Amino acid sequence: MTLQTKRFIELSDFMAMRFECKRCRAVLSLSLATDIDAKKLRVCPNCTEPWTQLPEGSSIEGTVKEFLEAMKRLRNNLKTRAEMYPDGLFSFAIELDEKAFVITRPASEKSELEL
Ligand SMILES: [Zn+2]
Repeated sequence: MTLQTKRFIELSDFMAMRFECKRCRAVLSLSLATDIDAKKLRVCPNCTEPWTQLPEGSSIEGTVKEFLEAMKRLRNNLKTRAEMYPDGLFSFAIELDEKAFVITRPASEKSELEL
């Protein structure tokens, strides 16, 4: 017998956006309950390593901003529909890779930042 475990997350379960600098390992967690200023993600707030803004000028800042806005909009729309139709028309969740839950780095190697 083969047992397969699948993990899902609903948009209503999303609490924050987490960014980790590959250079200095600083971790930045931004609550989705507040507006996130995508401009502050251009560089690492700890070591100034480029994040969304690359030195040659290309940027994914707009894409990050669009993702955040679309995700919040969809989450709000799903919440409104759930309130209008308590028995539900459908449910929506994102399936996670089974490896997504494995964190192998010791907790002592990371630092948390607040903006
Ligand atoms: Zn950094």
